Amino acid sequence: MDAFALVPPEWTKSAGHALNFCCPNCQAVPAKAQSVWLNRRAPVSVANKRKYQEFYQCNCGTAWWGWSDDRPPSELSDT
Ligand SMILES: [Zn+2]
Repeated sequence: MDAFALVPPEWTKSAGHALNFCCPNCQAVPAKAQSVWLNRRAPVSVANKRKYQEFYQCNCGTAWWGWSDDRPPSELSDT
């Protein structure tokens, strides 16, 4: 699975926007997702900040996405 692939994976088409940046079905955190895809081709500029959609496929089978700037800072980028 290439998180930076140019073509969106099939499972992203059924993804819903998760406002809490976790699985809307089982509340699993994105670090536990089985697949990730980042929509870097289509960033959105808001107040001079660029953000993009991050798609996650949870182990429970639910696909969801959140804005990159909504991700809790300590979850994934603290390595
Ligand atoms: Zn889930």
